[in-house]
Amino acid sequence: MRVQVQKRATEPDSLAHAEASAERDPAMRAFIEHCRARGVAVTKQRLAIFEALSSSRAHPSAEELHELVKQKLPSLSLATVYKNLDSLREIGAVGDVNPLHVRGRYEAVLPGTGVGHPHHHLVCTKCHRIFDLAEELVPTPRVDAVSAPGFTVQSVRVQVEGVCGDCGAATRE
Ligand SMILES: [Zn+2]
Ligand SMILES: [Zn+2]
Repeated sequence: MRVQVQKRATEPDSLAHAEASAERDPAMRAFIEHCRARGVAVTKQRLAIFEALSSSRAHPSAEELHELVKQKLPSLSLATVYKNLDSLREIGAVGDVNPLHVRGRYEAVLPGTGVGHPHHHLVCTKCHRIFDLAEELVPTPRVDAVSAPGFTVQSVRVQVEGVCGDCGAATRE
C-alpha cells in the first residue's frame, strides 16, 4: 500500500504559516493591523518578537528576547532583534522601559542634607538633558499594598518624558 504524503499548503516555518497562527490571537491580529496601517512589513521575525513580548510582562533585554525567539527562529541574530525592536518602537508597538538610560546618569544625593532632596525628573527625549522637578509641585503617586500587592516599596520615582524648551523652540523656528 502506498502512503500519500499530503503536501502542506503552508510550510511550518513560512511567513504565511506564522501569520495564520497569529490571526488566532487578538493581540497578534491587532499587531499585524498596526504594522500594515503604518507601512511596516509584517515579517516572521517581527511576529516572533512581538509574540514573545506580548505573552509575558517580564520586560526582557534584547539579549533575553533573542534567546527566547531563537527557539522558534534558530538563525535569528541579535543584531536583527535590535533592528526589529527599533522599527517596532518607532511605530509604537514596542515600548522601551528605560529609553534614556542606555548609559547611566548620575547626580549627587546625600540623605539628610539639601543635596538630593527627593525630586522627580523631567527628561528631554531630544537632547537627553535631565531637569529636576520639585516633589512639592507634583505629588508623588501613592503605591500601596492594594496597587502593588506583595511588593515592598522603597521609593517612587517619577520620570516625565517630553521636549525641553530649547528643543521645542528649535523645532518651531
Ligand atoms: Zn532638549
Ligand atoms: Zn535630579
